[in-house]
Amino acid sequence: MALILGIIGYGGMAGWHHKNCVKVPGVEVVAAYDIDPERVAAAEAEGLAGYSDLGEFLKDERFNTVLVATPNEVHCPLVCAALEAGKHTICEKPVALTVAELDRMISASEKANRVFTVHQNRRWDKDFVTAKAVYEGGELGNVYSIQSRLHGMGGAMHGWRGEPEHGGGMLYDWGVHFLDQIYFMLGYDQILSVHCVTKSIKNEKVDDYFSLMLQTASGVHVVVEIGTFVLEEAPRWKIMGDQGTMYIRGFGNDGKIVKVNTMVEDVPVIVQTSAGPTRTFAPRPKNVKQEFELPQLEPQWTEYYANVQDAIDGKTELIVKPCQVRKVLRLMECAFESARTGRQVVL
Ligand code: NAD
Repeated sequence: MALILGIIGYGGMAGWHHKNCVKVPGVEVVAAYDIDPERVAAAEAEGLAGYSDLGEFLKDERFNTVLVATPNEVHCPLVCAALEAGKHTICEKPVALTVAELDRMISASEKANRVFTVHQNRRWDKDFVTAKAVYEGGELGNVYSIQSRLHGMGGAMHGWRGEPEHGGGMLYDWGVHFLDQIYFMLGYDQILSVHCVTKSIKNEKVDDYFSLMLQTASGVHVVVEIGTFVLEEAPRWKIMGDQGTMYIRGFGNDGKIVKVNTMVEDVPVIVQTSAGPTRTFAPRPKNVKQEFELPQLEPQWTEYYANVQDAIDGKTELIVKPCQVRKVLRLMECAFESARTGRQVVL
């Protein structure tokens, strides 16, 4: 069966979906509904059937799947309405603001017997896929620390993303992607507790900085940090194992695996540095470290739509499963609680 989409909320992200999903054979976009007449006109200008009425839109039988790409606070009622109308449904991230909302969406999909998934597209980001491959490949030995960071200097959360009533803030906006990545990489039984700090540096109403630490069952220490006003970037990923360290800068795979060169004898001695005498932190001869290229992987975001199409056809399982996004949302609830109370929260 083809994946024929009707989009709710024809804004910035909808345009991105429209451009990219049609690269998958059998995927089409035929209609859009928006509360803003200008966005309905924009959809019509792109050759779609434009709707200003949700009921009329959901009656359109030309599409079998609804994609919800509105601000976050209206995901839940719109997803439920689409499922109740018998449409398979894809929702943008964050799927909802609370686990209670998500549970209503999951039960609507079970009742309607329709596929329901969330656009966690950053599972296909090159930096993430590379970091996951290195982590799983074992070259770093026993991994003891994973650091996932993103720094920028845009400062502000723009438009509705700066408004709490629309589900704004950085933890909802990008945090949801990064926590989804950590769960997908480590496994869904791994995260035990969270300690989170949020700050509003350039915004009054929502968080535009957060830093959180996760305690895991395997003992890997995880740090996830996003700052919108950090004027010097840190690596996007740093993974430390007892046999080596990996880092990636930016969103691609600009980075290295660094290991000890076992061919070179290196007996640390005490060295006088500007910080005084030290053995542990003394500079080492250059050839003591060996650098290795990162794997060259070419993930495609379009795989997401192909997977949804195959899942609707019953050929495969969803890659982004509702039970997985529920884990992420629960973790986010605990992170907000930790930020509010200043305490570590056990999941
Ligand atoms: P946007 O403001 O550009 O577009 C939102 C659109 O929804 C607007 O056209 C608005 O008129 C419409 N809208 C608002 N309320 C509506 C309602 N009740 N019914 C119908 N239409 C309504 O926002 P955006 O940047 O496109 O973000 C939309 C969603 O996509 C958000 O959930 C956001 O988090 C998500 N998003 C995801 C990614 C990603 O990488 N997965 C990237 C950007 C945005």
